[in-house]
Amino acid sequence: MADLATIGAALSSLKTATEIVKFIRESDVNLEKAELKLKLADLLGSLADTKMELVEVQDTLIEKDKKIAELEDAFQKKDSLARHGDAYYISDKDGNPTGLAYCLRCWENEHKTRQLVNSSKDRGLHICTSCGHQYSGWRTEQISPKQTN
Ligand SMILES: [Zn+2]
Repeated sequence: MADLATIGAALSSLKTATEIVKFIRESDVNLEKAELKLKLADLLGSLADTKMELVEVQDTLIEKDKKIAELEDAFQKKDSLARHGDAYYISDKDGNPTGLAYCLRCWENEHKTRQLVNSSKDRGLHICTSCGHQYSGWRTEQISPKQTN
């Protein structure tokens, strides 16, 4: 993945290309044809390097946009989740945890809501479908919505 060094390399390649163009422009009129061809080949090489480095930078920016979107999504969900026992739950309008349990580990590490399911091997355990972490069933049980009158 590209980093600041890649941007530095791209700028350096562009500087080289610019210097080659300056050299050609400021040379005497009788610049040898062979030398001119050599300089143009250098120029093309430098521009190709720049292009590759910029593609890397572009990929990095796309990745970062994706990460920002994920974090914004998690930030919006933050207020709608409440911790209870060893899991997170959707908050009802009064802020009480309700419904199915979400993995504590996935939420706290990656800000992703992943439902817990019953273990097929041990009925007392709940398992995260994403990270596989196991939770005590009674610490992560489903919470029925509070009755409102
Ligand atoms: Zn998990």
